[in-house]
Amino acid sequence: MQNDDLAFDRKHIWHPYTSLHQPLPVYPVAAAQGCELILSDGRRLVDGMSSWWAAIHGYNHPHLNAALQRQSSQMSHVMFGGITHQPAVDLCRRLLRHAPANMQHVFLADSGSVAVEVAIKMAVQYWAARDKPAKNRLATIRGGYHGDTFAAMSVCDPVNGMHTLFRGALREQLFAPVPAVTPQDTWEPAAIAPLRQLLEQHQHELAALILEPIVQGAGGMRFYHPQFLSEAAALCREFEVLLIADEIATGFGRTGRWFACEHAAVQPDIMCLGKALTGGYMTQAAVLASADVGHIISQGPAGGTFMHGPTFMGNPLACAVANASLELLEQNDWQQQVATIARQLHDALTPLRELPAVADVRCLGAIGVVEMREPVDVAAAQQAFVEAGVWIRPFGKLVYLMPPFIISSSQLRKLTQAIADLAARA
Ligand SMILES: *Cc1c(COP(=O)(O)O)cnc(C)c1O
Repeated sequence: MQNDDLAFDRKHIWHPYTSLHQPLPVYPVAAAQGCELILSDGRRLVDGMSSWWAAIHGYNHPHLNAALQRQSSQMSHVMFGGITHQPAVDLCRRLLRHAPANMQHVFLADSGSVAVEVAIKMAVQYWAARDKPAKNRLATIRGGYHGDTFAAMSVCDPVNGMHTLFRGALREQLFAPVPAVTPQDTWEPAAIAPLRQLLEQHQHELAALILEPIVQGAGGMRFYHPQFLSEAAALCREFEVLLIADEIATGFGRTGRWFACEHAAVQPDIMCLGKALTGGYMTQAAVLASADVGHIISQGPAGGTFMHGPTFMGNPLACAVANASLELLEQNDWQQQVATIARQLHDALTPLRELPAVADVRCLGAIGVVEMREPVDVAAAQQAFVEAGVWIRPFGKLVYLMPPFIISSSQLRKLTQAIADLAARA
């Protein structure tokens, strides 16, 4: 990449969550292979991010590449209205096989945020069909992240999600506090009381409770006790509120189970999947719904039509690569890989708790989080990381790892050492 390309990028291209006037530096990546990103100057960086939870099998994987090549020689895309195709049928069959047993229907969407919009529409249409149109608001817990489109944003943490910036444009939803009990704590029944109160008080206007099961990702990388999830599910039944499990970050093995709901044996009414669905190759998401949700919506107004249908719905290339990614998960011993990563993350990161600049260290499955006392200088930290040969992108006070499942122990050691060095310098 030429210098004028970088200058053009800096002047004309928005990157995620950045200012045009004060953009953070960007690093040109020319290729990626296995667990490494290869910069255009030839430097190789061990990847600690899986490109935002997605690239669970690493990059440039022969099985995924072959699936895409095979599919592109058949057809890259056809509309999904009035048409179906093998890659979509295979994918939906596979998803239902691995999902909680009550899930019976699949809606293929374009991205995680769109999947959340679709899930919310399902919940609203469900209550419209049951002749309770007043039940159209959402409850959630603080500290969550559900995407960047408007309805998704309305259930993100109101502080992190800058709700004040969008006041008036954003539906006001109902928030319970961040769950106060971590998976390591002994369960504290009082922890569920605020959510109980919220659902009890607002049941007549609530369509659904939406939450990220066990792991709150981009909203703050917090973990909470599985008992909170199972009690939340019970409250939803008690107060006739649907439960939407946003498994977009947690799905496909990241927490040590296929889906994080399994930590509490919870069967949600609606489930959102994305991110690792295609093994990190391209954008696609899926919304799964229970038999009841599918049935009730289909009895509702508008002839029981579910009112959504993206142009690129069920894109065959995305379905084909998602099928190949799920084949790898079915064949590989990912449980063993994630358990090995979990042990190494725990052993290498836990001692950092003793450092004065570190507020907390927490690990769950193939996720390791170091929370600093002060916000991290992202530009300086990234430069140091790149010089150390690793790709780690902190946000706020959080420096975290969620590596591809295929990472070797020496590669993972390089990542944890780079974080230890950063924490010791701070
Ligand atoms: C990333 C994420 C989303 C949004 O997905 P996009 O594909 O970025 O739109 C929604 N929910 C959760 C839990 C996520 O981690």
